Amino acid sequence: MTTVPSSVPALAWGAATDTGRVRSENEDTFIAEPMVFAVADGMGGHQAGEIASAIAATTLHERLGHGAASVDVAVAAVVEANAAIFQGAHTNLDQRGMGTTLTAMVVLADQGSGARLAVLNVGDSRTYVLRNGRLRRVTVDHSYVQELVSTGHITEYEARNHPRRNIVTRALGIEPSVRVDTWVLPFVRGDRYVLCSDGLVDEVDDDEIASVLAVHASPQAAAEGLVAVANRNGGRDNVTVVVVDSLEGDTPPPDSADLEIDLAWDERGRVDRLVDADAASAVATAELPAVAAADVPAADGVPRRRRVSLGAVLFVMSIAVIITLTITLLLVMRNNTDNSPSPTTTDSTTTTVKSTTTTTDRTTSTTARNTSTSTAG
Ligand code: MG
Repeated sequence: MTTVPSSVPALAWGAATDTGRVRSENEDTFIAEPMVFAVADGMGGHQAGEIASAIAATTLHERLGHGAASVDVAVAAVVEANAAIFQGAHTNLDQRGMGTTLTAMVVLADQGSGARLAVLNVGDSRTYVLRNGRLRRVTVDHSYVQELVSTGHITEYEARNHPRRNIVTRALGIEPSVRVDTWVLPFVRGDRYVLCSDGLVDEVDDDEIASVLAVHASPQAAAEGLVAVANRNGGRDNVTVVVVDSLEGDTPPPDSADLEIDLAWDERGRVDRLVDADAASAVATAELPAVAAADVPAADGVPRRRRVSLGAVLFVMSIAVIITLTITLLLVMRNNTDNSPSPTTTDSTTTTVKSTTTTTDRTTSTTARNTSTSTAG
């Protein structure tokens, strides 16, 4: 039997969603409840995306409506939602290929260290936190353009207008299993969290998001204000925003804008799949620009993320450290074999002698080889 948080934390929130100025349907779904908040951005035609995001929201409402006893419990709810969407997509022909992104925030059980929040993410919807006027992204997008940004091929600005910005590398319902990124945050009085679909961030950059949040004291007004700005800037996609204010917890130092976020995200050695969020279909890596194809080379048709190379870099660095330590140790051992006193001048002499010895050895060795060659000839 799992336990849940014993009391409802002091939070205030607001939410807004809109179809936007281009799309005919709104496939986004959100949850804004005392213990759980989420934004899901559905993908798939014929209202399938709307069904997928609704399944995710319903599952989180049922499993996390009273908070979560642990991060694992919260992740299990997302995994369950993934399985339900995957099964639906493979059972109903008209829902084939449906999926959804999901970014969520759930209150964790108080385990003696104060109330905490767990942030969960799959896909390219985002969770931000605003503290002391500084906006920081908590989640990392699972998207093709995020790969290009992370590898320095394009800028954040270019990503927001990139023709392939709809391609996600992770989503619920696409595979029978799903990896969920998680972060744990303490309650800090005055923190403002923003959960949103890409319909906001593709139209409104982080600076403008921060400025809109700053002028609205009410979280509901802030959410509606952000949706309005997204539509004013183009409204190319459905846009959904949930704003949550923390009214309890520690007060952060006024001169500190740093956010101590416990990162539990690990991309090393993982495999992802590219999915076009608009078409809800797999994308062959060959369709992507050459630079990106090098970043996510496909073997067996499954793209592999560039972050795998981080392990190789760390491995090489480890080897270099081991070699350096070994050489240092050998030098120390050789110095220790010299019983003479060790003023600085004596060390120099010793070094010279060793060099001479080494040179002599090499000369001897070379001579031997030459002799051997001559004999053979
Ligand atoms: Mg979207």
